[in-house]
Amino acid sequence: MQFSELGLAPELLSAVQAEGYDIPTPIQVQAIPHVLAGRDLEAMAQTGTGKTAAFVLPILQRLHAAADTPLKRAARVAPRVLILCPTRELAAQILESIRSYGANLPFRSLAIYGGVGMQPQVQVLRRGVDLVVACPGRLLDHMQQRTIDLSKVETLVLDEADRMFDMGFIRDIRKIVERIPKERQTLLFSATFAPEVRDLAQTILKNPVTVEVARRNAPIELVNQIVINCDADKKRDLVLHLFEQHGWHQTLLFCRTKHGADALAKRLQHAGVRSMALHGNKTQGARTKALEEFKTGKLAALVATDIAARGLDIVALPRVINVDLPNVPEDYVHRIGRTGRAGNEGEAISLVSAEERVQLRDIERLMKKDLPRSVIAGFEPHDKPTSKPAVPRAAPHPSRNHAPRSAKPGTGGKSAPAGRRSGPGGAGGAAGKPRAPSAKASGAHSGQRHR
Ligand code: AMP
Repeated sequence: MQFSELGLAPELLSAVQAEGYDIPTPIQVQAIPHVLAGRDLEAMAQTGTGKTAAFVLPILQRLHAAADTPLKRAARVAPRVLILCPTRELAAQILESIRSYGANLPFRSLAIYGGVGMQPQVQVLRRGVDLVVACPGRLLDHMQQRTIDLSKVETLVLDEADRMFDMGFIRDIRKIVERIPKERQTLLFSATFAPEVRDLAQTILKNPVTVEVARRNAPIELVNQIVINCDADKKRDLVLHLFEQHGWHQTLLFCRTKHGADALAKRLQHAGVRSMALHGNKTQGARTKALEEFKTGKLAALVATDIAARGLDIVALPRVINVDLPNVPEDYVHRIGRTGRAGNEGEAISLVSAEERVQLRDIERLMKKDLPRSVIAGFEPHDKPTSKPAVPRAAPHPSRNHAPRSAKPGTGGKSAPAGRRSGPGGAGGAAGKPRAPSAKASGAHSGQRHR
């Protein structure tokens, strides 16, 4: 299937070409014709599948086909398209996609989210916009202050509906939907269809078409996953050691707490690894800056919490490090979905302490497979995993921070992590010998709670 067969206008086809897309992704092939036909849609698709273009392209096409005269279009003020999503970062990314795909069309768009002033958003809304991408909380503020008119919305999109549930937006969403005309097209995208998402879908969608492209663990195919067993209190040292050994760049690290993310980012920064933290306590300015610098390669490390990192679109991210395992196993899948995207292989390294046994077991259950284990020389856990590691362990090294080269991931050395393809350190070291997956290991809960 080619983009040209999807019934999109030349203006959109040339924008898609400018983005460097050759062929539509499966979600685009499945969703675009239905959206163009005006049908409601429920789509099970994760970030990384090309889902944004799957709704933005046909929505722009429908606006384009509405054949407004330029005068009529300019006279319109109220938005015709409303896209709801869970985080500011995702809103900014969707807006960026709308502007790229719509570069040859005259439509005006705006992202509405908190953490920045209301006034600039109000001014743009007054001048008129065609498409609004919004996070529910700030949109409700605008609705309460009557600075947005939703009475002309023809198309409503709920992106990452499951995450909006997780983040407690359901009541806000229902309030917003109540104020949108009933005669509309509604598109709902979600990585999973838990019962509460199904309930919502049933109440807001009319006779929807269902498409499903990526089951929740599909991206894992492209991610080389490795577990490194270590002690909880040695994790920061180990992260630093791995950076020093491999000279990693563009590495996304996940911590369970904001405090943990800050502490690790500082630690790396002090050691000369350019890094920043990304979490909910950061100002919008700091978050945007961190993301921008990370995307452009200025930062070697971005240390994030789950919520802050939700839906981040960083193309071809080589590596994700789980400094702490998430409590919710689905979050593991979301995290590693940042890498191995759009056909690129990535690697996901999880540092697992004895306290995280339960989470690791839950993750493996969810994915229906065991992850290969390893240890790094000088960082052997004191509380030994219950099962044998895949490779013989190196003898403890006298200097933890100066482990022998053979111990580095990716070399296939004695204490290298067991991986399926190349080991961690694709940037820093040659891929090692094939390493066999280990038997089961273990981990328990570390007791940290805040994201
Ligand atoms: P999304 O799932 O919308 O977050 O998209 C993930 C990434 O895939 C983004 O970087 C898009 O630019 C990219 N992408 C979307 N559609 C295509 C396509 N047809 N071919 C190649 N890359 C694409």
